[in-house]
Amino acid sequence: MKKKIAVLPGDGIGKEVANGAIEVLKAIGQYYKHDFEFEFGLIGGEAIDKCGTPLPEETIELCRSSDAVLLGAVGGPKWDKNLPELRPEKGLLGIRKELDLFANIRPVQTYKALQEISPLKGEKIEDVDLVIVRELTSGLYFGKPSERIVSDGEEAAVDTLFYKRKEIERILETAFQMAQKRRGKVTSVDKANVLTTSKLWREIAEELASKYPDVTLEHMLVDNAAMQLIRMPSQFDVIVTENMFGDILSDEASMITGSLGMLPSASLSNSGLHLYEPVHGSAPDIAGQNLANPVGMILSGALMLRYSFDLHEEARAIEKAVKHVLDSGKCTRDLTNNEGAFIHTTEMVEEIKEVL
Ligand code: ATP
Ligand code: MG
Repeated sequence: MKKKIAVLPGDGIGKEVANGAIEVLKAIGQYYKHDFEFEFGLIGGEAIDKCGTPLPEETIELCRSSDAVLLGAVGGPKWDKNLPELRPEKGLLGIRKELDLFANIRPVQTYKALQEISPLKGEKIEDVDLVIVRELTSGLYFGKPSERIVSDGEEAAVDTLFYKRKEIERILETAFQMAQKRRGKVTSVDKANVLTTSKLWREIAEELASKYPDVTLEHMLVDNAAMQLIRMPSQFDVIVTENMFGDILSDEASMITGSLGMLPSASLSNSGLHLYEPVHGSAPDIAGQNLANPVGMILSGALMLRYSFDLHEEARAIEKAVKHVLDSGKCTRDLTNNEGAFIHTTEMVEEIKEVL
């Protein structure tokens, strides 16, 4: 299989972890005889420095002409005082918008080797393997009006929770299709006992469910979902929810693993061009010191193989290699309380490559 991958390493540890992911993908490509071609583009702070904009036109074109996009992280103290239009984060929001990346996917998995830093202990740590599918381009964060008003002579403010049928359909379709490739269960999270948008959401979920007879659909109220994620996270396979609920639940769920450095994400569009990035940011405090945990970025590469290229065996090989290295007791500094006993970014990458 021949694929062109746009790599936007960005700033800080973005570069270090992107290098790690590329090395692992190259190794997988060699092993399984795929021709992965990597082409680099500028985004964020480095793009501001070199081109005067956080998202140069060439970067957008590079992405559009590629089969998938791998992104590191953007930002850093150097650009913190910039005007809003010249902030590195604008590059990230810009590329999401340009590519219409409406579905944010965050898989959450526990590792027995990370018991010490995960809030889950004992047997519970063994079998958590869930994915949160968050609607990313509508809902409460985009509804109009959103403004300060005067109501009955009093100071007030209004935000609007607004969803179009099509927006709900496409995110639910994403979730059902994901469940088909996993364990066949979708938990649709809403607040249908109170919110009108949630009632529409629930109706559409029911309609779509008949198109996916191999998937079991359950509904859960968001307050209950927040509790169940802590009480028994192993009950979930695919959780799908609107923008704000997803924002909160995905942060809650991500901490089950134990470290920000472990977590991958995918942002999917309907065009077939998707973007993959770790959940963490550019970590200026450890940038350039070979201390970053590359696993979140490497696992983002595995998601790319799975969701963009349908290379399931290859994706599993990467995930297994990561687990194997962690199980053998090797860890980066964020995964241990023991200052002496950690390995560096590049060593972690080597370890993972060795057991692919
Ligand atoms: P952003 O706004 O870009 O998301 P942030 O302010 O949320 O960034 P991060 O850059 O993600 O913050 O860093 C938060 C903390 O987590 C920092 O102390 C950083 O060193 C640590 N951290 C983040 N990613 C990693 C990683 N891959 N390996 C080790 N530590 C990390
Ligand atoms: Mg952050």
